[in-house]
Amino acid sequence: MAQQKTDVMEKLVSLSKRRGFVFQSSEIYGGTGSCWDYGPLGVELKQNIKRVWWRDFVQARADMVGIDASILMHPTVWKASGHLDHFTDPMVDCRACKLRFRADHVDAIPWVHYCAATKGNKFTIAGGEPCHHCEQRRTLCPACGKGELTPPRQFNLMFKTFMGPVEEDAAVAYLRPETAQAMFVNFENVLQSMRLKLPFGIAQVGRSFRNEITPGNFIFRTREFEQMEIEYFVNPHETVEGRPADEYWHDRWIADCLDWFRRYGLGEENIRLREHDPDELSHYSKRTVDIDFHYPIGWSELMGVANRTDFDLKQHAQWSGKSLTYFDEGRHEHVVPYVIEPAAGVDRALLAFMSDAYREEEVRGEKRVVLRFHPELAPIKVAVFPLVNRDGMPEIARKVEAGLRPYLNVFYDDSGAVGRRYRRMDEVGTPYCVTVDSQTLQDETVTVRDRDSMEQVRVPIAGLRAHVEERMGAWKRPV
Ligand code: ATP
Repeated sequence: MAQQKTDVMEKLVSLSKRRGFVFQSSEIYGGTGSCWDYGPLGVELKQNIKRVWWRDFVQARADMVGIDASILMHPTVWKASGHLDHFTDPMVDCRACKLRFRADHVDAIPWVHYCAATKGNKFTIAGGEPCHHCEQRRTLCPACGKGELTPPRQFNLMFKTFMGPVEEDAAVAYLRPETAQAMFVNFENVLQSMRLKLPFGIAQVGRSFRNEITPGNFIFRTREFEQMEIEYFVNPHETVEGRPADEYWHDRWIADCLDWFRRYGLGEENIRLREHDPDELSHYSKRTVDIDFHYPIGWSELMGVANRTDFDLKQHAQWSGKSLTYFDEGRHEHVVPYVIEPAAGVDRALLAFMSDAYREEEVRGEKRVVLRFHPELAPIKVAVFPLVNRDGMPEIARKVEAGLRPYLNVFYDDSGAVGRRYRRMDEVGTPYCVTVDSQTLQDETVTVRDRDSMEQVRVPIAGLRAHVEERMGAWKRPV
């Protein structure tokens, strides 16, 4: 059944809290703005996303290696990269209530309006829409509806801190706003230690921090988040299939990333590519293409794939005085590689996978909520139930659970009717439920119930793990 997108976000937030995916940070103290904590199931889902990304893009490829760099870096890194001068967003302030907004986002948020045509009645109007009574569009503060907004000024998004015990200018350090720079400053170390040949890539998964002016929409935009980034170095003097190597690899990475998101469950109708306009390109970019997802809040960026050219390596070479080049043995020349950067957010990917997987269905007159995660992403792979808590069934079910646990994330549940146990597992996206029943006592088989089709098959306990793993590998996204 098609799902209305509008209220899905609220449902996801509520399900996330109720079932242990995502909690508000420091909730008992009233919460911290835009910070979220991943609960027991959320952390499994998040780890699975990072694990399959690392496996598919790093371990499965001969041209990729990884690093795990520190978050605090030498402050000159941010001067060289341009972040100190350019990593800004335009900000406007309300002169009355003092709230701040990103100038380029302010039109998209719902706005409060005191309508003169209805004796000053207060309305909240959808972002970008005019008032239906007086036809006016928003000019004042969207939050209080009264104050004028200041002209935009640039606000640097980097979090500042101090290294060491003295809070002085010389000790200023920044929390990294992207993981990318560590790959550039370690270029020579990685190249030499691994004896790599172009083209090759360095990947990293880790936390980044941005003092976003208007964070929000659950985990979509936060001030602390995780990124999965790749810097793929290519020889700009080479051609591949008749095209400059950087342009060829840029398109290859866009296609590979798109395929990856489709493979793990995002529907064709929910993802699209968006080419950046020339005036929107970052200072380092020759071309950037975003993969957008149709979130419950509308179409928005899931990840970006940028052609950063040789900007970063040249900048770091200049500021550090170190040569950051590659020796092309064929041409007997030193070249500064070009860089293709596929940069994805872990939290945004998690939100995309969750909202794409969320379905409300009617089954025999009852509502069923189900998260149709790809089995590789599902926090729990198999739930094991004894049909009743007697006749030796719990003992066998515990043995089944213990047999699977070293290989698959298993959950044991013996409380309530089996139908309710199924529903609880559907709601957290568990693809397979195994039930030990009276027939098990006779022939050592169990039923395996499929989350998506709800069909049940009997499987010998001895072949259970192989059965589940085979079905996980053959999973197809239900239409
Ligand atoms: P946006 O335009 O939404 O601010 P961006 O283009 O600045 O994002 P990039 O610098 O390209 O983002 O970062 C790569 C990825 O990191 C993004 O596609 C997104 O998935 C993730 N990301 C960036 N900022 C945030 C944030 N504040 N919260 C969560 N994820 C983020």
